[in-house]
Amino acid sequence: MPLLHEQLTPVFDEVMNRNPGETEFHQAVREVLESLSPVVEQHPEYADAEIIRRLCEPERQIIFRVPWTDDSGRVQLNRGFRVEFNSALGPYKGGLRFHPSVYLGIVKFLGFEQIFKNSLTGLPIGGAKGGSDFDPKGRSEAEVMRFCQSFMLELYRHLGEYTDVPAGDIGVGGREIGYMFGQYKRITNRYESGTFTGKGLTWGGSRVRTEATGYGTVFFVDEMLRAAGDSFEGKRVIVSGSGNVAIYAIEKIHQLGGRVIACSDSGGYIVDEDGVDLSLVKEIKNDRRGRIEEYATVRTSARFVAGGSIWDVPSDIALPCATQNELDEPGATALIRSGCRIVAEGANMPTTPGAIRALREAGVSFAPGKAVNAGGVATSALEMQQNASRDSWTFEHTEERLAVIMSSIHDRCLETADRYGTPGDYVAGANIAGFIRVADAMLALGVI
Ligand code: NDP
Repeated sequence: MPLLHEQLTPVFDEVMNRNPGETEFHQAVREVLESLSPVVEQHPEYADAEIIRRLCEPERQIIFRVPWTDDSGRVQLNRGFRVEFNSALGPYKGGLRFHPSVYLGIVKFLGFEQIFKNSLTGLPIGGAKGGSDFDPKGRSEAEVMRFCQSFMLELYRHLGEYTDVPAGDIGVGGREIGYMFGQYKRITNRYESGTFTGKGLTWGGSRVRTEATGYGTVFFVDEMLRAAGDSFEGKRVIVSGSGNVAIYAIEKIHQLGGRVIACSDSGGYIVDEDGVDLSLVKEIKNDRRGRIEEYATVRTSARFVAGGSIWDVPSDIALPCATQNELDEPGATALIRSGCRIVAEGANMPTTPGAIRALREAGVSFAPGKAVNAGGVATSALEMQQNASRDSWTFEHTEERLAVIMSSIHDRCLETADRYGTPGDYVAGANIAGFIRVADAMLALGVI
């Protein structure tokens, strides 16, 4: 593990001691602190104002009980979370995740990442994240609706277009946002569209928001390729997951001339050398809420591998788009062996620290989620702009805005990496550029 700067070691020790057992949060903080040595050297004013220590402590953490009744009349119990991490740049902004693995450490790692990601977009949004250990899989529509309504009955009091604006994440898509926004509207008696993003197009949503994280991920990789004098044309690509981010990453890769030959869900992965048939994946995962395994029963060119590692499939480019820590050191070794040249994170923190080290030592170009997948939240901010002005932009205009934002995030990462003595290092560039904008705002706002 790389050493931390002597001024940052006590900060990290404090994070470990104050947040015991929250391993994902420790991992996310450590990754940022490892990049900040040159910043600490050049900017003593941040240490003087304890900016980094303050950044590592959420402004507010909300944990609440979510009782609801299932279809058989039994009372069920879940736990709800919202961590409002930092509002120096704007209202708290970040998604809600519904997955049985959710606990405070996951929500804090996601909220911490969100601060830097939102800062990198250049837009006026702070960082937050939330969710619940509720598992929507196998639940009826009515059960999902009752859960969302109960969840909102507590969370509504903390939200508002100038306060805290949630969106989707794993397990939370348009359906869940609809139920939560409906309940929010009912409780507050206000049609305050700007309180949620990821809304449906007929009730205040933005075009391209559904596609934004996947498209934005691919726009970023396209910039990486362009910087190396290359393109997607003819490239073999692996995309893990088959949810919102993965599906729209696959769509854009195919539009740009690449060929996605594998994708997955938590049950295993499929390989289709003819190129993944996206309309079939959408039908299975979106329309039927089925399993990716079904793909191989329909397409004769495909095979399904239960469990296993999708990274064993030979590729030029790999995009982890499912969940945290899904690409480990053996996975990285397999990618390196097969000649993979680019790994870019569509998901949040999907690559373990050991895997990142192995990839970078092997000369694989690696870009972190907080830069690569920032297109989702950036388009959420565009949705807020449209809501504020009661406007609705065309698909083409919104997609063009997204492409420009991703290109400028890419360039900001490289320019910052250059300026701080680590040319070509997307991790350092993203962490430092994201940090400085928030840190300067915190300095300006005083000790609050
Ligand atoms: P979805 O719920 O739409 O899809 C998640 C996908 O990942 C599914 O294919 C799911 O498979 C798989 N998955 C989830 N948990 C696991 C696990 N423990 N092991 C293996 N596979 C798993 O979520 P999204 O596509 O929205 O999110 C994917 C990632 O992208 C997350 O890290 C999220 O934080 C990040 N992200 C999402 C944004 C967005 O706008 N949606 C914005 C920025 C980042 P299964 O169906 O079997 O569970």
